[in-house]
Amino acid sequence: MADETAKAQSAQPGGDTIFGKIIRKEIPVQLIYEDEQCVAFPDIAPQAPTHILVVPKKPIVQLSQAEDTDAALLGHLMMVAKKCAHDAGLSNGYRIVINDGRDGGQSVYHIHIHVLGGRTMQWPPG
Ligand code: AMP
Repeated sequence: MADETAKAQSAQPGGDTIFGKIIRKEIPVQLIYEDEQCVAFPDIAPQAPTHILVVPKKPIVQLSQAEDTDAALLGHLMMVAKKCAHDAGLSNGYRIVINDGRDGGQSVYHIHIHVLGGRTMQWPPG
């Protein structure tokens, strides 16, 4: 089992996460983007030449727990993901991923969008 898959199998929802610490600047990361609603930074274990995470400051646990009132925020995250991909020069395309829950391979229970690019992606995903 790949490391990331094993992490996802044992991860538990609830409580503060590493992304909360990054948002509060308790852990330094090279922020690619920040506004009042979200931050973007490189994934620490990149799965592609470009691998960026877009994370809302609001700690929504996972997509399946998002509420109707989160719709505008989720749309905003998608537009920030598009901007990050553009700014990273991913002119040939890229992949957007949201892992949800154990079967979805989620390992950090603070919703985030993965922006992956710089190589040809395979389908179906593992
Ligand atoms: P997921 O498995 O969809 O929950 O994605 C969580 C992602 O967070 C993984 O791709 C990890 O590599 C990434 N990650 C975990 N800790 C950090 C960190 N301190 N800085 C950047 N990325 C991280």
